[in-house]
Amino acid sequence: MRRKGSCLCGALSYAIQGEFDGVWMCHCSNCRKASGGTGNTIVVVPRERFEWLSGEDHRVTYTLRPSYTITRCKTCGTPLPAEEDDSNIYLTAGTLDDPLDAGFKNHIFYGSRADWERDQEQTRYFVERSDGPEADHS
Ligand SMILES: [Zn+2]
Ligand SMILES: [Zn+2]
Repeated sequence: MRRKGSCLCGALSYAIQGEFDGVWMCHCSNCRKASGGTGNTIVVVPRERFEWLSGEDHRVTYTLRPSYTITRCKTCGTPLPAEEDDSNIYLTAGTLDDPLDAGFKNHIFYGSRADWERDQEQTRYFVERSDGPEADHS
């Protein structure tokens, strides 16, 4: 199975091959800041199963520590991928354009998640905007 993904502006696009057994989510404080949300959602892709379709040289990488880098599209700032090493690409799951046919496999640094990362009483879910229909959520 071949799946594609891209950044928000479309300058970067890629394809991944094969099946994946799930998404890793890191809730640590670095990943919260890097994502601006609850953390980073990552699909670990072996290098030989990843290929750039466009924009490989249209990226900028910020090295925060030797072990923590962030790569983003130069135009739109989409994080893509989060990190790379000799054997794997740590692909930001939100950039996939095709269904992955897998769910969360591991939540890491869950002990340091933000205190607001939870529903409160009477949290409402909407299919789209909050003036539209509510979504089925249980
Ligand atoms: Zn872009
Ligand atoms: Zn993290």
